[in-house]
Amino acid sequence: MRNEDFPLIFEHSQEGRVGFSLPDLDVPEVDLNVEVPYVRNIDANLPEVSELQIMRHYTALSKRNHGVDSGFYPLGSCTMKYNPKMNEDVARMPGFSHIHPLQAPESVQGALGLMYDLQTSLEAITGMDQVTLQPAAGAHGEWTGLMMIRAYHEANGDYNRTKVIVPDSAHGTNPASATVAGFEAVTVKSNEKGLVDLEDLKRVVDENTAALMLTNPNTLGLFEEEILDMAEIIHEAGGKLYYDGANLNAILGYARPGDMGFDVVHLNLHKTFTGPHGGGGPGSGPVGVKSDLAPYLPKPIVTKVQERYVFDDNRPDSIGRVKPYFGNFGINVRAYTYIRTMGANGLKQVSEYAVLNANYMMRELEKDFDLPFSQHCKHEFVLSGKRQKKLGVRTLDMAKRLLDFGYHPPTIYFPLNVEEAMMVEPTETEAKETLDEFIGAMRQIHKEASDNPEIVQEAPHTTIVGRMDETTAARKPVLRYQK
Ligand SMILES: *Cc1c(COP(=O)(O)O)cnc(C)c1O
Repeated sequence: MRNEDFPLIFEHSQEGRVGFSLPDLDVPEVDLNVEVPYVRNIDANLPEVSELQIMRHYTALSKRNHGVDSGFYPLGSCTMKYNPKMNEDVARMPGFSHIHPLQAPESVQGALGLMYDLQTSLEAITGMDQVTLQPAAGAHGEWTGLMMIRAYHEANGDYNRTKVIVPDSAHGTNPASATVAGFEAVTVKSNEKGLVDLEDLKRVVDENTAALMLTNPNTLGLFEEEILDMAEIIHEAGGKLYYDGANLNAILGYARPGDMGFDVVHLNLHKTFTGPHGGGGPGSGPVGVKSDLAPYLPKPIVTKVQERYVFDDNRPDSIGRVKPYFGNFGINVRAYTYIRTMGANGLKQVSEYAVLNANYMMRELEKDFDLPFSQHCKHEFVLSGKRQKKLGVRTLDMAKRLLDFGYHPPTIYFPLNVEEAMMVEPTETEAKETLDEFIGAMRQIHKEASDNPEIVQEAPHTTIVGRMDETTAARKPVLRYQK
């Protein structure tokens, strides 16, 4: 039975019903309308409901959502994984949650100490010389890193470095960030193994190259085997190497961007380091740089002077602030807690399990689905729905059908260089039984595609909202609830 049969009622309001109690007023009453011209409408016409009604309403709404706490979420490129509850406890400690960014540094030494230690840990993890915690997301980190590369070239009088090279398999944010930072994004092709084509790279590199932006492992989940050669090609041309570290859970403790020759790296703490995410944030996208780029880091940076932590604002070459205050501190507390609870060996295990889980699932699923790049993968892999498409069932249909099994579908139609792509990231935190159940569901969907394609084509059958008309939803969005 569809949940639709139990419609959610929005009109609970009854005049005079209250769901809160406030203490008696013990200060003089003021007329807000007179004192504050910005208060436009005192009568906000809020629903009048009891506490129990409002609890039930929001709990019912929350059950209509899918999250990593309610089910498997193999969304490739996003690392939707377990968010340890210990992180939440620590982030809620009053010393972290009740402080204000304008407090004097002497009164928040613990918080600054955490920021300093997190910077230092991330430097060790990435092999970089200095880290900023300011950027609020991965894409924001990309832009920050590129602005530093730009400042570096300009400081050398190198004003003609206008191009940033980006592989055709890159995450969409890479060319977008390059453009927003004022560069021209130039595409370099992948070869038949799904890796950057070195010959094509040599062809596009020239004296106008500002940087190469690379994700490693790339968005096909494959490790760039010729990474050192690429670094040499770019450095010889006078360019810098930018590392998109959103996929770091594949190499933690085994390989470091700094050792591969990279000059800048951003991390997604809301992916690799268990910050809860989805629904747009908050995230955290720290950026690490080698020492020749360090003068350009956003200011301030937390530093340590004689056992006291201070904000270093005296950085004349800095690109400036990239965010009000000091980054999304709460996410940084969670990432720090995770790093400290895991320890160096624990972080190494993260990449072992991420890679093992992905390869196990890939080898099981390649029996029923096309696998365009067949070498071992790292933390994720990309299947093609070509075989099912011949039966009239598209990747979109299979993704919708997975909802009926209680799963969030994988990323689909990305990367662009794979036809009918399905990008699966099981993550390091899932048990073998969960992987097997998902493999079973995929197998059944494959079988349905040949025996009973309508059931896949018309999916989902069990969700509150059926198949959406996505074009109309985009063209005529209904953005406001009205009685
Ligand atoms: C998620 C992701 C990004 C962008 O990060 P946001 O925090 O979503 O801005 C960039 N590159 C890769 C490879 C990613 O997976």
